[in-house]
Formats: sequence, C-alpha cells, structure tokens
Amino acid sequence: MTLKGARERWVRTGGVELCVAELGDPGRPTVVLVHGYPDSKEVWSEVAARLAGRFHVVLYDVRGHGRSTAPRPLRGGFTLAKLTDDFLAVVDAVSPDRPVHLVGHDWGSVQSWEFVTVGRTEGRIASFTSISGPSLDHFGHWINARVKRPTPRRVGQLLGQGAKSWYVYLLHTPALPELAWRGPLGTYWPKILERAERVPGGDYPTASLPTDAAHGAWLYRDNVRARLRRPRPDAYAHAPVQLITPQEDAFLSERLYDDLDRWAPRLTRRTLPAGHWVPRTRPDQVAAWIEQFATSAEGGRPAPRPTGRHADRFAGQLVLVTGAGSGIGRATAFAFAEAGARVIAVDRDAEAAARTAEQSRLAGAPDAWAEPADVSDEQAMEKLAEKVHDEHGVLDVLVNNAGIGLSGSFFATTTDDWRKVLDVNLWGVIHGCRLFGARMAERDQGGHIVNVASAAAYQPSRVLPAYSTSKAAVLMLSECLRAELAAQGIGVTAVCPGFVNTSITSTARFAGVDEEEQRRRQQRTARLYGLRNYPPEKVADAILDAVADNRAVAPVTPEARGARLLYRFAPGLLRRIARVEPRL
Ligand code: NAP
Repeated sequence: MTLKGARERWVRTGGVELCVAELGDPGRPTVVLVHGYPDSKEVWSEVAARLAGRFHVVLYDVRGHGRSTAPRPLRGGFTLAKLTDDFLAVVDAVSPDRPVHLVGHDWGSVQSWEFVTVGRTEGRIASFTSISGPSLDHFGHWINARVKRPTPRRVGQLLGQGAKSWYVYLLHTPALPELAWRGPLGTYWPKILERAERVPGGDYPTASLPTDAAHGAWLYRDNVRARLRRPRPDAYAHAPVQLITPQEDAFLSERLYDDLDRWAPRLTRRTLPAGHWVPRTRPDQVAAWIEQFATSAEGGRPAPRPTGRHADRFAGQLVLVTGAGSGIGRATAFAFAEAGARVIAVDRDAEAAARTAEQSRLAGAPDAWAEPADVSDEQAMEKLAEKVHDEHGVLDVLVNNAGIGLSGSFFATTTDDWRKVLDVNLWGVIHGCRLFGARMAERDQGGHIVNVASAAAYQPSRVLPAYSTSKAAVLMLSECLRAELAAQGIGVTAVCPGFVNTSITSTARFAGVDEEEQRRRQQRTARLYGLRNYPPEKVADAILDAVADNRAVAPVTPEARGARLLYRFAPGLLRRIARVEPRL
C-alpha cells in the first residue's frame, strides 16, 4: 500500500523531522489526515486517493512513526502539546493562509481533539472529522461523572469501556510493549488485523511496524494517565465536528460519545456497521462523509442535518428501492430520504417512480432519481444495474420490494398465474440480489439487502398457495444469502409484513373467477385492509430499524409477529387456521 502520486517534503519542528505527503491541487481546500496507533500515514491511502480529486490532501507520519524521526529522549517527547506543535508546523508549511479540514483516526483523532480545543489553533481549523479516538479531556469527564454519580447503567458503561481498554493498561507497563512489538506481535500484527477486522493484510507497511508501535507506546505513557486524572474544564471545540462511530469497534464503546454535544455544539454524528479500522475497510463511505462535511463547512453553511430515523447511519448513503411508485416502496423511499440518503426510486410505472423521486427530494434526500424498470425482466434489470453503477456507484442499501398479489386455490391457479407471480415476487428479488449484490460484495465495504417477503412466507393458507410460495422462497433466499455475505459485512433482511393498507388489494389478481367477481373481491379486500388501516409508513420505519440493527427476519404488524410465534411454537394451530376459507 503506497501513496501513489504523492509529493513528499520534510518539516522540521521541535527536534524532529516530519515526513509530509501531499496529493491534489494545492489551490483547493486542504484536508489534513492524521493517523493512529500502530499505523503510519499510509493507513489513509484509500481515503486520500478518493479525496484528491476535490481537495489538497496532506498526510504526515506522526513523530516516531513511519519515516518521521523520533524525539530524544522518548519519554516526554510525545505530549499532546508537542503533537500540537507538529500539527501547526505542518499546517504552516502546507496551508499558511487558509484553515484546514482536519481528520483523525484512533490516536490521530485523540490528538486532533487537542488541536481543535486549544486556543493557539483557533482560526487554523475549518472542520474536524473524528473517527475512533475520543478527547482525553472528554473521556476524563465521562469517567468522573460515572464515578461520582454511579447508577447501575453508568457503572455498566464504565465496566464495558474498561474491558475494551485492556491494551491501554499493558501499554503503560515498562518495556513489555516494546518487547512484544519487536517480537511476535510485530510479525503477526498484519495477520491479526486481517482476521479480526478484515483489514486487507497483504500490503500493510510491516517494515516500520515494530519501531512505530514501540515508539507509539509513549503516546499513551506521556498523556493518558495525566489527562484522565486532570481533564481540562474548557475543552470546547472551536470548529464544527463530525463524529464517525464504527459500531463494532473492539476498543471504544459508543457510549463514550453520549455527552459530546456539550463539548462540540456544532456536532454531526455518523455511524457505520464496521470495526475499528474504517479508513481501510470503508474508504468509500469515510471519504464521502469527509467530502460532504468539508464542502458544507467551506460554503459557510452548517452541514445538512437530516432529522429522519437513523439519519446518523443513512445520511449520504446510496439506496435503491424497487416498487417505489406506491405503498410500502414509496414510504420506504421517503423514510430513507428523510434520513438524508440518496434515493433511486425504481418502478415499472415511470410516472409513479418520478413522483416518488421528486417527493424524496422534498423530504430531504440530497439527491433522488427515478428509473423505470420491470424487476421481472432480466435484461431490463441488467441495464438498470449498469446505469446505476456507472452514474451513481455501488449501492449501500438495496430494497427489493416490488411485488404483486395473487389469490385463489391451487387448482384454480393456472401455470400462467404461477409464472407471473414467481417472475415478479421471486425472480425480481433474485435479479436485484444478483446484479446489485454482486457489486456490493465485490466492493467489499459492507452494505445491506432488504427483501420484502410477507407473513405469508411462514403462514400457510388455502387461498394463497402461489403468493405464499413466492414469499417463502424469498425468505429462504434471504437467509441463505445472509449466511453467504456475512463475512463481507453485508447484511440481508427478510421483511415480513401482515396486512398493510396499500393499493396491492386493488391490483391483486383472484384466480378462477370472472372479471366482475374479481373486481368485487378486490373492492371487498381493499375495504377490509382499509378497516385494518396499518399504514405503509410504519413498515418503512421497521425496514430502516431492521437495517440499522442488521436483523435477519423482521415481522411487521402484530398479526405477522403473532403468526411468527405460532410458526415456531404452535405450528399445528397455524395449520388448522390455514384450512379456514375466508369469505370474500
Ligand atoms: P403496492 O402498493 O401495489 O406497490 C407495489 C409497487 O410495485 C407498485 O408501484 C407496482 O406497480 C410495483 N410493481 C409491481 N410489479 C412490478 C414489477 N414487475 N417491476 C417493477 N415494479 C413493480 O403494494 P405494496 O403493498 O406496497 O407491496 C410492496 C411489497 O410488500 C410487495 O412485495 C408485497 O408482496 C409486500 N407485502 C405487502 C403486504 C400488504 O398487505 N400490502 C403484506 C405483505 C407483503 P403497479 O402499481 O404498476 O403494479
């Protein structure tokens, strides 16, 4: 892993020489990326490459790391004050007249919190993006609040973070970390990272790792204990802050940031379902959020703050919903739009899709597009996937929602009826998963697929054999795919609604009856669903919740949850209910 096309220079400060790399046009706004422990600036390679087209990107090896020299003596050479001197020396060299957009990961973020909360850097930082590295001052206050006013919940939070901080205690021991890094840990670290975090291992800059990591132990020894004991009372951020929290971080609890708004009043929160090393495992999302945040700070505008459900998670993500012209699909497109996602509304009805896209923009989507396509048509779906990937990139969330209803006994259902319902309800989902899921898996940066099945997937019925079969297949397909894609951080959810008040009742086919009887039954079903009156918006909320929590199966509506319970614990009763013929 190298920084392709980077220009290098050396900055001398406080007895050390810092290796600084620059990418992109120096006339553009500057983004400074600060690496953590035990890394060097190369940890940012993927993110830097993605930002270089729009920004002047600057990276430097922290003193004692990578190709920067180490202070002598080591003890006392890594204090936050000296790290702040280094940052100012780099900024003086690369962007003397214009404030920079600061981004820190791990210890890079810990020290950047110092930069953005001390007076001498005021006016030099236009925005700060913090990833997996809290301010030691805020951390100190967080601990004090829990020790002074303990409640069971607060004690639990303390213990939780304490367990995650085991390595910090070890790093305070004399000589042990140095011995470990120069011995087996240094050799096996890339493999450990690859296994635990799925950080691509082959190209990790191993040559400097043992020395970097041994020096880096002084970051902890010189700062942690002293600052946690006496946190500064006035550690307020003087620039807007974007906090990116990986939800599966093995070293930091999400709870650490609960009180952050107090210290950073202009705070934007983002969450990612990923481990600690997101600059390497999720460079697309990290770069997109940095770009968005820095661009809005440049414009002097506050960063857009979508207020919808799970906005911290979905803002800026690319979401495609099929069957988005009506009902559950339309409501789902709006819910993602309100959360600040970029939405692609797909429907076979082009006008309905266009309406959804238009209203998604009004609901808060930074961008929304309409694409007409019939999900059952393989070629049309291939064309759609090609267009979407070319014009917008790889999806973060795919919602295979388009579906049609079909009622009628098994013998009344013709082979043509079977084909139609399976073509849309099952093949439509297969095409979506294949064409969009493949690119998600290839990108290897996580994502989520939602397949809208139905409670009919597990609740047998004598009047819905074809529809229920199609939905049961979607449920099992989702489970299988979930197992296959888990290792790549891609979640798959089968959503199983019960009776939802949408227009599916007036378009559903009734097999074995003439046109007039069909119309009568459609009207009667629509009336019954109207009386039940469960709104599609609630299903949309459940879809966003299920993605955020990475649920395997999400039954929605009380009757769908009840049937799921019966399916698991009293299947005999469910079979008896299946024999009842509803009067329509
Ligand atoms: P809806 O209001 O009829 O919406 C479905 C949308 O999908 C319509 O705009 C429809 O267009 C579109 N569509 C149908 N076939 C398509 C195709 N081949 N290609 C592209 N778009 C297509 O129905 P809904 O209730 O929201 O249903 C959404 C999903 O939820 C379906 O999979 C359904 O099986 C499932 N579901 C619904 C309920 C319920 O009670 N409503 C319960 C459980 C599961 P047209 O209008 O042109 O057909």
